[in-house]
Amino acid sequence: MKPAPFVHHAPRSVEEAVSVLAEVGHDGKILAGGQSLIPILNMRLASPAHLVDINRVTGLDGVDVGPDHVRVGALVRHAQLERHEGAYAALPLLRQALVNVAHPAIRNRGTTVGSIAHADAAGEMPAILVLTDGVVEAVGPQGSREIAALDFFQGPLETALAEDEMAAAVRFRRFAPGTATAFAESARRHGDYAMAGVAAAVTATDGVVTAASASFVSVTDVPTVLDLTDVLGGQQTDAADWSAAAEAVRAHIEPEADIHATADYRRMLAGELARRVLRQAAENAAMTKGSTSR
Ligand code: FAD
Repeated sequence: MKPAPFVHHAPRSVEEAVSVLAEVGHDGKILAGGQSLIPILNMRLASPAHLVDINRVTGLDGVDVGPDHVRVGALVRHAQLERHEGAYAALPLLRQALVNVAHPAIRNRGTTVGSIAHADAAGEMPAILVLTDGVVEAVGPQGSREIAALDFFQGPLETALAEDEMAAAVRFRRFAPGTATAFAESARRHGDYAMAGVAAAVTATDGVVTAASASFVSVTDVPTVLDLTDVLGGQQTDAADWSAAAEAVRAHIEPEADIHATADYRRMLAGELARRVLRQAAENAAMTKGSTSR
């Protein structure tokens, strides 16, 4: 199918983009990589009268690695971030997750910020934003504001952005020294959305876990973080109670059934993936010897 007719706007600046958004109100949608929006338009699941195409806006295509965060502009493609060596060194979890986002062709065009703004709990990058305690930089006609990741995701495909706001960038916070991360998911076919996925971050000192947390793909309504420090803290990184952590994950999540898997299967899968990634992150954390994150 073809999309319903729409007016195409091609602003050159963020200010121009948000002023068009304010003008067209709920009849407008931002177009970034189009990898989620265009299929939705083609299937006529949405028919906005105006598309505000931000691809010509300057200054949104940078990745900045700071001492505390990795900042990703709204036009940074998944593939650009995946290959960014500075971002990988600062926050390996970005690449660990990004290689699981769809296929390379989609990662070449789709943007990481677009995937976060789309707010699909089956996407990998919303889960990474919450696990890193990240921030969305929103800009509207009244100016800019920062929205903490956990406040940003308000429901399935629903965010805290107002109609006339756009996400200009997101900031993923870097982990404390001695922290390592791991990511794993399971999909029916390579490149498909996952039936379940888990990201883990574990901090260790002298081979003992001092902090642990996990976030999830496809098994919660909105991206959430589970603090597992109570379950794993104080235990040896090579002999912690991974079964207890997996059980805590199974109790925390609320998977739904669909044509790909039952809710029970997703729950079982997420628990098993959590066991693996927490263990792997803990082993890697022990090897950092408290210096840099891995
Ligand atoms: P668009 O499609 O342009 O926009 C998506 C939505 O976000 C729209 O509502 C748009 O208005 C809004 N938006 C975009 N940018 C902004 C902004 N800066 N500010 C405010 N709102 C904005 N994703 C995964 O995470 N995992 C997968 O496994 C996966 N598999 C896929 C498989 C296929 C076959 C396809 C087609 C897509 C898949 N995707 C997957 C989606 C892909 O990652 C998209 O790139 C991403 O979801 C959206 O990014 P985009 O830049 O293409 O955004």
